[in-house]
Amino acid sequence: MTPDTLARAAADKPTPRLNDADTIATEIVEKLTYSIGKTTTAARLHDWLEATTLVVRDRIIDNWFGTTIHTYQQQQKRVCYLSMEFLIGRLLRDAISNLGLTDPIREALARYDVELDLVELLEPDAALGNGGLGRLAACFMESMATTGVPGFGYGIRYVHGFFRQEIVDGQQVELPETWLKHGNPWEFERRESSYEIGFGGKVTTIEEGGRQRQVWRPAERVLAVAYDTPVVGWHGTHVNTLRLWSAQSLDPILLDAFNAGDHIGALLEANKAEAITRVLYPADSHQAGQELRLRQEYFFSSASLQDIIRRHLAQYPDLSNLSDKVAVQLNDTHPAVSVAELMRLLVDVHGIEWDTAWETTRGVFSYTNHTLLPEALETWPIHLFERLLPRQMQIIYAINAGVLREATQGQTFDDETIRGISLIDEGNGRRVRMGQLAFVGSHAVNGVSALHTDLMKVTVFRDLHKLYPTRIENKTNGVTPRRWLFESNPGLTRLAEEAIGRGFKDDITQLSQLDPFAEDAAFRERFAGVKRQNKQRLATLIEERLAISVNPDAIFDIQVKRIHEYKRQLLNILETVALYEQIRSLPHLDWTPRVKIFAGKAAPSYAQAKEIIHLAGDVARVINSDPGVRDLLKVVFIPNYNVSLAEIIMPAADVSEQISTAGLEASGTGNMKFALNGALTIGTLDGANVEMLEHLGEENIFIFGLKADEVAKLRAEGHSGQGVIERQPLLRSAIDSISAGVFSQDDPNRYAGLMGALRDRDWWMIAADFRAYWDTQRQLDMAWRDRARWDAIAVRNTARMGWFSSDRSIREYAHDIWRAGPNA
Ligand SMILES: *Cc1c(COP(=O)(O)O)cnc(C)c1O
Repeated sequence: MTPDTLARAAADKPTPRLNDADTIATEIVEKLTYSIGKTTTAARLHDWLEATTLVVRDRIIDNWFGTTIHTYQQQQKRVCYLSMEFLIGRLLRDAISNLGLTDPIREALARYDVELDLVELLEPDAALGNGGLGRLAACFMESMATTGVPGFGYGIRYVHGFFRQEIVDGQQVELPETWLKHGNPWEFERRESSYEIGFGGKVTTIEEGGRQRQVWRPAERVLAVAYDTPVVGWHGTHVNTLRLWSAQSLDPILLDAFNAGDHIGALLEANKAEAITRVLYPADSHQAGQELRLRQEYFFSSASLQDIIRRHLAQYPDLSNLSDKVAVQLNDTHPAVSVAELMRLLVDVHGIEWDTAWETTRGVFSYTNHTLLPEALETWPIHLFERLLPRQMQIIYAINAGVLREATQGQTFDDETIRGISLIDEGNGRRVRMGQLAFVGSHAVNGVSALHTDLMKVTVFRDLHKLYPTRIENKTNGVTPRRWLFESNPGLTRLAEEAIGRGFKDDITQLSQLDPFAEDAAFRERFAGVKRQNKQRLATLIEERLAISVNPDAIFDIQVKRIHEYKRQLLNILETVALYEQIRSLPHLDWTPRVKIFAGKAAPSYAQAKEIIHLAGDVARVINSDPGVRDLLKVVFIPNYNVSLAEIIMPAADVSEQISTAGLEASGTGNMKFALNGALTIGTLDGANVEMLEHLGEENIFIFGLKADEVAKLRAEGHSGQGVIERQPLLRSAIDSISAGVFSQDDPNRYAGLMGALRDRDWWMIAADFRAYWDTQRQLDMAWRDRARWDAIAVRNTARMGWFSSDRSIREYAHDIWRAGPNA
């Protein structure tokens, strides 16, 4: 909005709408009639979804304008969250709940025999992300709105989000996801906010008033068009914007070529442009590496920065106060090219001196690191970078020269340290290191849990940390309690309200008032009753989708997350097989019934992860059809894990599996969602599990296994699994059975490689941690038999997880890094 339209909008503030069921019913019918063109009798469930969404949307828009005007008038600092991924999931229930409209809308729809819950289920799950990183961005958007931080999410409007997973003959099959098929009522196309994005071409130097200036003439140009989605916070008063960019060709069709008969060639350019935002790369914790990926990164970074600068210049005379008025958070290195791009815009386009521009750039940016895995650290071959982004490459060289000058001047760093600081990796055919670029271009660099931040200082950024010893800080992740408790677990939310009042809904740390109720037998029973209902709901879903019947009175032991070797689903499967063999050989013992539940997607090119899915399916088939284990053990793999499925799974868990190899899970957020909903965690001292242990107390979490330093030491000593396996009959037998084809009789050698790797290098310490894991699982069995104890622990988990709200994370970012927020 321009200052003029803002002033006008402020003058004609909309009158607040009534939110009673009568008014809402009237409005829904109006939308049905005049926006959708249906009568109430002809309307299908989809039409009711659209009409309801439009009615909710009207209420959001009123507050959206209000927020925009307020931010402008108060000259507030804006926080721009740049993220390649936003794993937002469905929006309707979230919006309705945050606006406090659940009851009137339910009632209004019921008058037409329409069930709100069924309507909500029809909304597509917006999966513009892979996993934890993208979901964090979504939780942060909601928490920025809730805490009143003027926030702008910037990302990519992928036509196809994260692939749909089906399991065919036990194996993952990837199908395209089409969330935009029926249109998207939440988004607004902003054709007036579009920017040209260049690729390739040449850089020339020109003289201008005695000064040299670099001019980049790109060979290719595409248009970035903005699509805005409002993001509503709790109570709905503050509404932020998620702005996603879509790529379009400047010339939709080359008419000359078309008229000359080259019909395909005429569309080639348009297709190439639109390919940039066509599909999300399905690689999690792994570098994609293709040119299209670098194009995506630069495309959305440049569009976002141009937008930020335009908005700034619409309000202030020049860019000298940019870093006072804008904070830009880089969510991982995917938008790290922004550092070079902002320098280009400031120096080349806006004529600002290099040193001043550099100070502004570092004032504006901060960077969040999400992984220490070497295979996930982004680097780009220099030749590719130079060809695609020649001017940005020059700028990176210049930044590097400055940083290396700084490093060689003051202190005496050895050559190895200097090599570690450099933005250019000279070792592997010369590559640009995006982590180093993001680090030097930021005033603050953060890890996402205390352990991860500590490890950053001695691993990936050991050398840069020596040069800039105060730059790294910690910001432990969080999850929004609105989606992950209030909306997904209304039963538990109601129970908590009855026990401690409504205060916790505005301030989630007040959940701690539930703590004494752990001693209250009647409360524990009601708590367990809610859990039982949630488990029944999941059991029904499993029955409907997989035709497997599971007993809701068994322990629901759940591991849902991306399939990755470091997350160690294989450890869980081995324990399952060992348990199966024990039950078979000692059937007279008093076994505790368990249902092992898995879900998660493997990157399409990640062979081992796909084998793990295959193995889970094979093991499930054999165990579930063995009359010898009856109801004592069931194994299910639920296909197509996504946010909507997570919302049903989290409230239904008794046991949460957070068993990554210590030192490798940066934080985890699934761990937080489970515990908040009263699941007991079995986990390693990794990521935010460490802080969960601190908040929960050691009696309320089941920690096992090697610690991060022990893993590092064993690896350095050249650990192999063979010796451990020989000494452990349970593990050896499980591995032997899998190797011998007991679970894959159609292909007995199927898992030879997977099992061989355990005997051999055991890189992920699965053999090394097996015994401790097994023993801890049996401790959980014991705890389950003492229901008073179990339920008390479950209650304390919910009571003590308030700190892990993303509101707390956002307040820390706002205070320590952005210096922004409602009171800044
Ligand atoms: C929370 C969440 C994740 C992250 O799970 P982790 O266990 O922390 O890896 C991934 N995917 C979805 C759909 C989620 O909701």
